[in-house]
Amino acid sequence: MKYQEVKNYINGQFVSDNNTRIDVDSPLTGTVISTVPLSIYADVDSAVKAAKKAFPVWSGMTSKSRSQILYKYRQIIEENVESLATIVHEENGKTMAEATAEVLKSMELTEFACSIPQIAVGEVLEVSMGVECRTEYAPLGVVASISPFNFPHMVPHWTVPNALGMGNCVILKPSEIAPITATKMAEMLKQAGLPDGVFNIVNGAKDVVEAICDHPDIKAVSFVGSTPVAQIVYRRATSNLKRCLALGGAKNHLIVLPDANLELSASDIAASMCGSAGQRCMAASVMIAVGNVNPIIDKLCVETSKFIPGTKMPPIISPKSRENLIDYINEAEKKGAKLLVDGRKFSGDENANPNGYYLGPTIIDWRNAETKMPDREVFGPIFEIISAKSVEEAISIQKESPFGNAASAFTQNGGIAKMIAQNASAGMIGINIGVPVPREPFSFGGWNSSKYGVGDITGKSSLEFWSQLKKVTSKWAKQEITDWMS
Ligand code: NAD
Repeated sequence: MKYQEVKNYINGQFVSDNNTRIDVDSPLTGTVISTVPLSIYADVDSAVKAAKKAFPVWSGMTSKSRSQILYKYRQIIEENVESLATIVHEENGKTMAEATAEVLKSMELTEFACSIPQIAVGEVLEVSMGVECRTEYAPLGVVASISPFNFPHMVPHWTVPNALGMGNCVILKPSEIAPITATKMAEMLKQAGLPDGVFNIVNGAKDVVEAICDHPDIKAVSFVGSTPVAQIVYRRATSNLKRCLALGGAKNHLIVLPDANLELSASDIAASMCGSAGQRCMAASVMIAVGNVNPIIDKLCVETSKFIPGTKMPPIISPKSRENLIDYINEAEKKGAKLLVDGRKFSGDENANPNGYYLGPTIIDWRNAETKMPDREVFGPIFEIISAKSVEEAISIQKESPFGNAASAFTQNGGIAKMIAQNASAGMIGINIGVPVPREPFSFGGWNSSKYGVGDITGKSSLEFWSQLKKVTSKWAKQEITDWMS
């Protein structure tokens, strides 16, 4: 195996266990590169005990001293971008360019956490003569973060640096499909000077997630993954009286008008739908064509066909996922949808290993199909086209989607773009942008069944999620004038 077996990381040590192990295979080659344990409640309990023990010291440090460790950690990531990106590339399959961009984004997220002493400063006011009210951010205690396969480095960095910076001790449950990158987080945080027990990793699947939701000493749970699992986690964690933020799946609509810039729109949409083989919750999923946008669709087909599996287009995460995507395409064809680009027929370039789980980009045109496009998430390099007679109709179609992660407008008309931005039911809006991910310090989070819970997963609202406010009212001298507060 290319990588050592993945172990849980508890109290600053990688620990062995007797749990069942499953293979971690690389989608690039289909070969086993490591194994990962399917941990159980007892492993979560050990991690919680270590985290609880570490909490008084970590939470007792000033936020400035905690951020010094995060600065060092950010520096260590910077020194290791290539080796981190190589692991992401090998365990997730995304291209080296995409993996490098992911690691750089993790650095940006860590930079935000480094600025916590500048942002989370509390407030103070003399509310009546000699009486002062002050608020300060207090950590929650032991908290947990559960992540998906598609961003094995970035998604844990949405949560872990902010949670640590706010003074919490963290348990990370990486995706069992891509768990190797997280082990490097543990090593690098330790190298940066993070005290043992402050950051822990428990690997596994459903049992670990359920243990996290049930453990009485875990105060808050963040989750990123598919909507059905986000619902399970949100229900289970909140029924156990925990704070929970659970981000789910997506089907992102792009409202495209005939006046949209032909070159820019076509290349942007192609990059959005094909990047990471469409396995991004912000990927372009559906075009709502308003009027005649055929020139843009024609150009999009040309641009999309450049994403030949191999160098430019990564594989799908697993043979099962690829099979599901092919089933979806077959089903659409049976229902009379037209395949403008057919990913089943692509062969890869010289960099596509024949045993890799590759699938070419596909464009499905539902405009003359017998049935409507299904509203479920597809999560692959499949882009679908439907139509609307007016912008108003396009907005109402977008609003009917159960999801609400992102929506975009492609037009040169500022008034129409503004109307779409104001009325679309999605948390993140793009105007002439196919992947409208807000950069730090702006926060990331969708609406509807793309997110359960209050606030967003990054930015300032993340700092609120990972903390609680303490309000202190004080008076040091007897007052001449008395009122109800005296
Ligand atoms: P997933 O839902 O299968 O898994 C996510 C996590 O949940 C993993 O750690 C997994 O071990 C755990 N899990 C899986 N099944 C479970 C169950 N039945 N009970 C408890 N835990 C379970 O998601 P995935 O396939 O790893 O990732 C892809 C999904 O994540 C897509 O739906 C994508 O849209 C979504 N995603 C969303 C965002 C966002 O910001 N909204 C970001 C990235 C990915």
